[in-house]
This record gives sequence, structure tokens and C-alpha cells, in this order.
Amino acid sequence: MSCLAIDVGGTKIAAALVDLTADNATLRDRKQIHTPQNPSADALAEALSEILNHFAGQFECVSVASTGIIQNGVLTALNPKNLGNLAFFPLEESIRQHTHKPITLLNDAQAAACAEYLRHSDVDNFAFITVSTGVGGGIILNRKLFTGKNGVAGHIGHSLADPNGEVCGCGRIGCVEAVASGRAIARVAHQWQSPCEPPEVFERFRQGDAQAAELVDKSARAIANLVADLAISLDIQRIALGGSVGLASGYLPRVEYFLQQMPAIYRPQIVPAYYAQDAGLIGAAWCAENE
Ligand SMILES: [Zn+2]
Repeated sequence: MSCLAIDVGGTKIAAALVDLTADNATLRDRKQIHTPQNPSADALAEALSEILNHFAGQFECVSVASTGIIQNGVLTALNPKNLGNLAFFPLEESIRQHTHKPITLLNDAQAAACAEYLRHSDVDNFAFITVSTGVGGGIILNRKLFTGKNGVAGHIGHSLADPNGEVCGCGRIGCVEAVASGRAIARVAHQWQSPCEPPEVFERFRQGDAQAAELVDKSARAIANLVADLAISLDIQRIALGGSVGLASGYLPRVEYFLQQMPAIYRPQIVPAYYAQDAGLIGAAWCAENE
């Protein structure tokens, strides 16, 4: 069964026919459209219409991974303002106008969790953490993606890291995202006497610069605590760590270092995320098949 998978991101919309095997995925006829910085709802509806017409007759189901949160078929976010013109976009209704096949909707980090789980289906409880501009994630419980009634499950970047921390984009003070994300790292590094961007922070960290190492460790410690919280609250057995910060050379060993200081029950196995740009498409297809 081919699934038409669509990935609606901040800067691009990708689509492909996805066929899954037990532990891998094949993509056919992959298309990608770059979207303007703040696309209008009409532009997104038009792009979806073009995709569904292009693939007409070739799929058994449609599954969409999208930025934000999907609530009752409608696109929203913890802070809907961050979605610009796409806040409250009727995603399901826009697709339903073009097909009668089953439709699955999930957010992009949840989809990435599903994609990574393809390679880790020997465990029942699994999580994905992305540390990038923000911090996001997805949770697989008892071999199923856990989204919750409001689609919010997996927004682990907005759990608490520091009650005295910065205000997060979601409105809460001291979220993991406000401490550990690329944006949080940039905010601090921009104030340095020799200011720089996150890639340069990591370069300095690898060269042994103490100031950079302290900043990287602040992030890695918050992620280690998040990993431990997931392990103890949900019995997560393995975690894939992704994102530009999560996969930066030298970062994962620092997360491991902070975890090693905790009792064994808090230390699930951590692996680097495998799927890069196609995680949304592959995970969307997996979710449709395993709902
Ligand atoms: Zn937050």
C-alpha cells in the first residue's frame, strides 16, 4: 500500500509516495516546493491541491506531518502567533476536498519519532528528541505514536529545565527549549565579547574554549535531565537524539556524561537520529499504517 506522505514545514512542502517494509522505507516521485516566509492560507491550500491532483489514483491513504500542533484537523501551536498566516488552517478539510481516502495528521516531530522507530522496533517504548532552533520530540508508547486528544503529546521541549530561566516562546518560564535550544545558545553567544552563532560555539567547544564548553554543557545537562525524566515517567527504553545541536559533533557524549552521574534506571540508551530531511515523510507513512 502506497501512502501519499506530505511534510508541511516552515520553509518547504515535500511530498512523496512512501512504501514501508519491516524496517525501512522507499520514497517514490518525491516533490518539494519552497514556501515563502509567511505563506497565506490560500497558498497552502493551493499547494496541497496541486500535490493531491499530481498523485491522484496512486495512493491508498494520505498522511501529513506538519509544523505546529494538529487539533481536530486544524493547524495550531502552543503559541499560534508563531504560525503567522497559517494559524488555525483547516488542514483536514483542505485535503478532504480532493480525496476520500483515509487521512492521518500529526506534527513533524511526532512524525520524526515514527521514522526513527522504524529502526528501533525491538523496544516497545521509544522517544525522539530534536535539539535544533527549538526543542521538540515524539513519544512511542506500547509500539504506537502517542499524540493525546489535543495532539500535544511529545512537546517535551516545554517541560521545565530551570524555574529561574528565560521566558520561553510558549509563554512559560524556564522550558528546556529556553535553556537548551540553538536559539537559547545563540542568545547567550551573541552577548559574548567575541559574539558568534551556534556552529561557531560548537567549533570553539571542540577546541577546548571554556566559555563555549560551559554553554554547550548547560544545554547538554538540560537534555540529559529531559532524557532521565522520560525514562522515569514513561519507561522509555531508547531515545534517538536529532537536530542540528543534537547531532553536532561532541554533543551526545556530553549528554551521556551528565546521564552517567544518575542511577541506572534514569539512563535509557541514546542513539543519534538516522533520518534527516525525509523523516517527516517516512514517519507520516508509518503513523498512517500503524494507527
Ligand atoms: Zn516553552
